[in-house]
Amino acid sequence: MNKQFILDYSYHNHTTRCGHAKGSDEEYIIQALKSGFRVYGVSDHIFLPGVKQPRIRGDYSLLDEYLTSINTLKTRYMSEIQIYTAFEAEFLPDFISYYKDLLASHKVDYLVLGQHGYVENLQFKFYGNRYWELAEMLKRYTDDLVAGINSGLFAFVAHPDFFLSFYPIFDHNAMEATARIIAAAQKNNMPLEINLGGVRRGMHDYFVSKRYDYPVREFWVEVAKTDIPVLIGCDAHHPAELSNIPLDQVETLLGDLELNLINRLTF
Ligand SMILES: [Zn+2]
Ligand SMILES: [Zn+2]
Repeated sequence: MNKQFILDYSYHNHTTRCGHAKGSDEEYIIQALKSGFRVYGVSDHIFLPGVKQPRIRGDYSLLDEYLTSINTLKTRYMSEIQIYTAFEAEFLPDFISYYKDLLASHKVDYLVLGQHGYVENLQFKFYGNRYWELAEMLKRYTDDLVAGINSGLFAFVAHPDFFLSFYPIFDHNAMEATARIIAAAQKNNMPLEINLGGVRRGMHDYFVSKRYDYPVREFWVEVAKTDIPVLIGCDAHHPAELSNIPLDQVETLLGDLELNLINRLTF
């Protein structure tokens, strides 16, 4: 079988500032070079003014140092690799003007839509923590993600099937969420990411099946019926995660699907 999935880029990677990653900024770049990457985007969990989430995202006070560090590496390695400055961010209505300013001032090259939860009264809440109201949380996730896709703020969607990590079964609700996400992505020609973070964590029991948190095959079967652009994201939280890339597992899970794979984004 021809291999579908080849990687010389990664637009989704983290730094130690989030509090749950390892390695210096430069160690990631050096490993990306060793792995033959030509494009590397640093997209740490976005720092949010007024929201404190130790071990989840860096403090807002780190913003200038983050941008300076990446821009220094961008220049230092420019003849070898294209480095981008970015953030992985939830679509959060209270922070739209902050996101717009980051983009308009060219402090970042792009934003990745990684919808893990929402903010209420400057408190961040994960969708999956409210297991007693899963259907409501699924609806909320889908509403928020679709609003983010339609906002024009984001370059691509990280792990669009993230909801299947807290919503265990691919039932009619999951199918409806999938259809809504795909319709929005198609309307906006918004690339969707197959996320390797979920693959690295391995398969778990989800009542009726053993599977990854994400990617989840049922979701990507629906994506394959469209021409939505699809890319792979390393979601590296350690430089070593830029070697030993689990592409064979992705090939096993999704290799027979006719996905519209792309390998470059333009900003
Ligand atoms: Zn992370
Ligand atoms: Zn990420």
